[in-house]
Amino acid sequence: MQRVAILGSTGSIGTTALRVLARHADRFQVAALTANSNAALLREQASQFRPAFVGCVDQSAEGAGDWQRGSQCLVEAASREDVDIVLNAVVGAAGLDATLAALAAGKRVALANKESLVVGGELVERARAQGGGTLVPVDSEHSAILQCLAGRAPHEVRRVVLTASGGPFREWSAARIASATREDALRHPTWSMGRKITIDSATLANKALEVIEAHYLFGLSYDQVQVVVHPQSIVHSFVEFIDGSVVAQLGVPSMELPILYALTHPDRLEDSGVPSFDPVAASPLTFEPVRLDAFPALALGIGAGRSGGAAPAVFNAANEQAVALFLEGRIGFGGIAEAIGSALAALGGGAHDTREQLLAADAAARRHVREQLEATAC
Ligand code: NAD
Ligand code: MG
Repeated sequence: MQRVAILGSTGSIGTTALRVLARHADRFQVAALTANSNAALLREQASQFRPAFVGCVDQSAEGAGDWQRGSQCLVEAASREDVDIVLNAVVGAAGLDATLAALAAGKRVALANKESLVVGGELVERARAQGGGTLVPVDSEHSAILQCLAGRAPHEVRRVVLTASGGPFREWSAARIASATREDALRHPTWSMGRKITIDSATLANKALEVIEAHYLFGLSYDQVQVVVHPQSIVHSFVEFIDGSVVAQLGVPSMELPILYALTHPDRLEDSGVPSFDPVAASPLTFEPVRLDAFPALALGIGAGRSGGAAPAVFNAANEQAVALFLEGRIGFGGIAEAIGSALAALGGGAHDTREQLLAADAAARRHVREQLEATAC
């Protein structure tokens, strides 16, 4: 019996994971659940799965008496003795400390929270090496790469190609994209996800986060990680080996399989919930170059990854803050990439050796984006 903690259990990945775990109740037991503020759903999940630990970040949300409150509940759930696997499905840099704590405590981390690796890639690697934990991606592209690699050594890999759906604005002109509305941006063509990652998929900032994630997960240089647009989201990524052979992983767009695989890797479990693949129904499969000029957040993010230091943390924090302002209707869609570019220019070269320095860079980037907005509003 593997005991699983789900951080962010009320979100898109969290609820999907609970559906997968319910189908495999003979193998997995839910040991801990945490949520930000959706106390009603958390209560329902707690009464269905009966975890030993329930945490709620929001102090004021009405819950049960024995819930742990405040952001510390994430680290607590992630490092409990009675937990073997931590599924980190929190959104944003708020997930970093729990990833570090789980790895330091020697757990398997099934990582949906890619922002952990973007903000603190080197800290995460250090925590893993010191604590003896293992890091397995939930992100569908990285799950695909892991499955394609099948244990082959890094020196046998020539490059990986991450697929991107292209988002709702794949065929829009750059001028039309800049003035897209919130409703336009939240209409993702192939995936149903939380709001932040849905906006990231429309700007392609999500693909930049994933390039950085691949760099850290698989020890690849930035020249070895490329992006191609694949509107059907059936091919989840490619690995090209040094002899020229290319291996891909395919499936219908559903997070159930990558979540399950992150729990069982390198083993596989029979799962009746994942539909059988029909290549005829899935066809045609098409591929296009990415339009870097129309989606400036992608090149900004990859550039931040290449710069290293505090730049990836600044990129992530500026993006989080700008997406929040866009969702509040306070900046336009084009303003997201502008805010990221401005924050990177001002703060991208900061110090980055410790968690405290990275969190300071994160806070400074958020402040910078808010101050720029106030300056233009005056
Ligand atoms: P979501 O917004 O649907 O859910 C986020 C969860 O995190 C919720 O349970 C919420 O309560 C919790 N949360 C939010 N802010 C928090 C905070 N400050 N502290 C603690 N908990 C907090 O998001 P999602 O779509 O499920 O995405 C979660 C993560 O998985 C993100 O990093 C995203 O990039 C990644 N991811 C998601 C998908 C997908 O299909 N949804 C696919 C690949 C990767
Ligand atoms: Mg992905």
